[in-house]
Amino acid sequence: MAVRVRYAPSPTGDLHVGSARTVLFNWLYARRHGGTFVLRIEDTDLSRSSQAFAIGQQETLRWLGLQWDEGPEVGGPHGPYNQMARLGSYRDALDRLAASGAAYPCYCTPEELAARRQEARRQGVAPRYDGRCRHLSASERTRLEASGRRPAWRLRVPDDGETVVHDLVMGDVTFAHATLDDFVLVRSDTVPVYNFVVVIDDLAMEITHVLRGDDHLANTPKQIQVYRALGEEPPAFGHLPSVLAADRSRLSKRHGPVSVEEYRDQGLLPEAILNYCALLGWSPPDGREVMTLSEMVDAFDLGRVHRSGAVYDVEKLRWMNAQHLRRLTPAEVARRARPWLAQTGLAEADPQDEAAGTRRLEAVIGLVLERVQTLADLPGAIEYFYRAPSAYDLTGARKHFRAETAPLLRAAADAVEPLDPFNAETMEAAYRALADRLAIKAAALIHPTRLALTGRTVGPSLFALAALLGRETCTARLRAAAVHVEAGGDAVSG
Ligand code: GLU
Repeated sequence: MAVRVRYAPSPTGDLHVGSARTVLFNWLYARRHGGTFVLRIEDTDLSRSSQAFAIGQQETLRWLGLQWDEGPEVGGPHGPYNQMARLGSYRDALDRLAASGAAYPCYCTPEELAARRQEARRQGVAPRYDGRCRHLSASERTRLEASGRRPAWRLRVPDDGETVVHDLVMGDVTFAHATLDDFVLVRSDTVPVYNFVVVIDDLAMEITHVLRGDDHLANTPKQIQVYRALGEEPPAFGHLPSVLAADRSRLSKRHGPVSVEEYRDQGLLPEAILNYCALLGWSPPDGREVMTLSEMVDAFDLGRVHRSGAVYDVEKLRWMNAQHLRRLTPAEVARRARPWLAQTGLAEADPQDEAAGTRRLEAVIGLVLERVQTLADLPGAIEYFYRAPSAYDLTGARKHFRAETAPLLRAAADAVEPLDPFNAETMEAAYRALADRLAIKAAALIHPTRLALTGRTVGPSLFALAALLGRETCTARLRAAAVHVEAGGDAVSG
């Protein structure tokens, strides 16, 4: 049997990381088994759904690299792929259920139902539809219709017995029918409800495996009842563990950014987001953490998805991002970082020599890449390659810009100025020679120099970054720092 899975978002917001995990597991499962991944838009909740969210989520899925095989835009043999365009098929299905007596019209008004629920609570029993419209006669129905009531349609659920969900992740989960009431399939305003339409679509789209968040586990026995009433076999179900915040409540907006779009805008890579999502409830047998998408396809196994909730850790996500950034070439990082660099005006192409500017940017990125976690960190990390430091790190200045440092900075500038060629090796040799001559440790030159050149106390290899800055820039910044120290700048003595 060819595997067919689907992701069925309600387009009511951005792509939550928990949903991204659901998409990913479906996609991986399809790829692993040579199956088909279907995208279906569940847009029957008119008040909350929007076309903009539907399109936005599709763009995000593409950005992540999770292309669907059938669905909106790409089409397929089971379309249309948004539910509002499939209303006719739900009406047909309801007709079948009504004809067999599996579904029946219920004329209770929302007010009556609410009053009965309240009464049940008062008596301390679980509110549950009492099935009173199950046995209405044709004449009673006619009378109710004549009084202006429009029916909702409910599924007749057996009073006794139980439904066992054989869940691929959660194992066997038993639901007593006494806890399932005759639930609504189609509301009195004729809008069909999720637990009904999802079944009709999964059947029509020949879905073999339903992999979704465990918040839907409690819906599954109801859906199985619909399959049974239609005389159909349900697909296999696998419910994925909840994504939890550190306080172990379900991860939501109140915990901070939770959508893939927000992380994209913060400069995270799709590779890292996917990799991180993969580890939310799953791990490969060898415990590897950093993986490409194709490595995940090779290793993915539903049998290794855990049952317990997966705790979301944004620091781990950022760490993961750093790992993936380092796997990219500097040229690729430069390409992806363009929007961030453009915002800051750094590294603008030199109209005189674009190629040289690109080469230099790539070299700069190559040098700082180990020290950034996200694309958004890049402008800050490379700024001093393009602009003289506007200030010196205060703690660093207290330590390394003391009154006696000024002559050292001048001596260093004098040593650098005549170097030809000027590169990391010649500068390092000149510094070692200068330190010997002054009978000081090289560190006594190196620390103030780093501060003078970059404004910072930490960064990539000093001589490598100096080589990229160039001789003139290095000399000028060393002398400017000397002037700053002499002027009393941040050089707190004592
Ligand atoms: N539209 C539902 C949701 O977004 C789909 C649930 C399912 O996969 O069956 O939660």
